[in-house]
Amino acid sequence: MIKIAPLFYYLKRQRWVGCLVVIFVWSCQHNAQQSINNAHLTGKGNLELAGNDFQLQKEVYEAYLRMQLAAQEDGIDLLGVSGYRSFERQKQIWNRKYTRFTQDEGLTPEKAIEKIITYSTIPGTSRHHWGTDLDIIDNGISVTGSLLDPKKFEEKGPFGALKKWMDEHANAFGFYLVYTNDSSRKGFYYEPWHYTYRPLSKPLLEEYRKLNIRSILKNENVLGYEHMLDTFIEKYTQENILDINPLVK
Ligand SMILES: [Zn+2]
Repeated sequence: MIKIAPLFYYLKRQRWVGCLVVIFVWSCQHNAQQSINNAHLTGKGNLELAGNDFQLQKEVYEAYLRMQLAAQEDGIDLLGVSGYRSFERQKQIWNRKYTRFTQDEGLTPEKAIEKIITYSTIPGTSRHHWGTDLDIIDNGISVTGSLLDPKKFEEKGPFGALKKWMDEHANAFGFYLVYTNDSSRKGFYYEPWHYTYRPLSKPLLEEYRKLNIRSILKNENVLGYEHMLDTFIEKYTQENILDINPLVK
């Protein structure tokens, strides 16, 4: 005959073991999710992307296509020119500018870094790493010189009609300007072409606040890294990362 008390004890113990297994599996998944997020935030992960000429997360790309279609009906040939960018790509941009400013223009490392971060981000800190942000121009108008020039987006500029349409309609599709034309705003200069898809990017910015930028840059051969002291990183985070359109944070 089976003795009830030991069996009961055994089952109770098993249930306890079961709980441990559940906790273990949950914590593994949780950790996997965290590491995906960190790689995702810094352009080092294998993000699932949609699009050909430029890429975005699928949900963002679909929202972009809907917006593009609506603009087309109003006679605006809206075109995304830059979407997702990897850490490596951002590092190429950064290192090229750093070399030009320090070697060709003779700036000190500190001055070169200050100059780069008026428009370009430190690798690992670009919103273009997230697959939620893109630069938009009007493809229906031919222009000379740089496409991404704030003057071109002024009312009478070649992209003035696009800017007006975006001011009126972009929010309805989830897209918002990040680096607004607000003179009290610090950090990156006004970028009338750079939009973010708020439903996905707002939670990513929350995750981003927890990242340690120095640890991201360590062993990555980002030029000028040794001149980025803690005080600089703190200022950069407060001004370039967080001093943005209040509607997107
Ligand atoms: Zn941009």
